Amino acid sequence: MGPIPCDETQERYSENTGIGVPRGAGGYARGNGPAGSGAERGKRWNGYWLLGGISALLVLAVVGYEVSHSPRTPPRSQLTANGPASQRTAPALQADDGEIPSGRDVTPFDTQYSAVSRLAPDLLKALQQADNDAKGAGITFRVTSGWRSKAHQQRLLDDAVHEYGSLRTARQYVNTPEKSTHVQGKAVDIGPTDADDWLIQHGSRYGLCQVYANEMWHFEIRTAPGGTCPALLNNATD
Ligand SMILES: [Zn+2]
Repeated sequence: MGPIPCDETQERYSENTGIGVPRGAGGYARGNGPAGSGAERGKRWNGYWLLGGISALLVLAVVGYEVSHSPRTPPRSQLTANGPASQRTAPALQADDGEIPSGRDVTPFDTQYSAVSRLAPDLLKALQQADNDAKGAGITFRVTSGWRSKAHQQRLLDDAVHEYGSLRTARQYVNTPEKSTHVQGKAVDIGPTDADDWLIQHGSRYGLCQVYANEMWHFEIRTAPGGTCPALLNNATD
């Protein structure tokens, strides 16, 4: 094998510190790329450095792909610190999923939560009117669940299958994303129990009805305001 023009190659590597690194790749690439050092290290390093350079390019290609294709691109600082693998872990439920953060008291007026703001307009309006009137009786509504994304609904169903041991039993409590009226924005779960009792007694004034016998917290618009609610269904499989 003839002599490699190492000085020339070495010089290029040294100058660029991470040959071929796209602009804006930042410190992440530099950390994995060849570090600049003197030419005196010898020819054999060129092979390693070339491999290192190729590896860095591959990593960058993967990172670039994931960044450009990720629906929620993490901040660059996070990407740099943890690498692309952190993006593959299941993301925590986001507000976009209709999740209500645990320990947070959400009222029918808290439209900063998608669980509330994405309820059907007639349901939200009826709920707010009922809440205003219930306050006169010293009762405060809490929205424990409202609109949910399909993915959120699927997670609830998966959790229920895990808890009850079978899809058949789980389905008595949790609907499929395709059937769930929560996903359609047409259902809301209300607590605490005194609020449920109040709504079961007075909800029909606003068109709000309990739907399932086994879910005293779940309400939907099922009649005209002042009308009569239909007979209860046994559970979500009915
Ligand atoms: Zn419900």
